[in-house]
Amino acid sequence: MVPVLSGSNRPCAVCRRVHRDLTRVLGTSAPDDWLAVSAGERMEAELTPDVCILPDHGTTRHFIRGHIQLPVVDPDPDVFVWSVWTEVDESSMECIARNWSDPNRAASAPLSGRLATELPYEQPTRGLQLTIYTRDPGMAPLLMVSSGSQHPLAAEQRDGIALHRVAEFAELLAR
Ligand SMILES: [Zn+2]
Repeated sequence: MVPVLSGSNRPCAVCRRVHRDLTRVLGTSAPDDWLAVSAGERMEAELTPDVCILPDHGTTRHFIRGHIQLPVVDPDPDVFVWSVWTEVDESSMECIARNWSDPNRAASAPLSGRLATELPYEQPTRGLQLTIYTRDPGMAPLLMVSSGSQHPLAAEQRDGIALHRVAEFAELLAR
């Protein structure tokens, strides 16, 4: 997937600006709770681009990075990606670790998790229930917000977004 959305030369229907070469993937390099962990606990923690293990008051929390894809439907079809972290239980993490290098891992059963990244929406996104679909080795898992969710993120994932919204995401994150 190319890292930029080429966009459109036509002026945006919402703001009349021309949206060209927008960043396709936005997100965070660690779960939000990574920042809340004490320096001592962080010594025992582990963070890679894909996995995070966090000691938390005697227990261990497990996170993996994945992609929430939002279809861009206007003016031209494309895809925007939120690169986010999802918290999973220990048995799910064991399952993910076991299948990590399996060339057929995309065939493994979906897992569930909870969104561990706050995204720039009016309603909180942390804690949203996700279904995790493992993809081929080298590809981040696909995360689907539960279709029953009333959250705008679920609606955007289902119905798609305008290119204008992608420009807005970048501005919201830059604040
Ligand atoms: Zn616009």
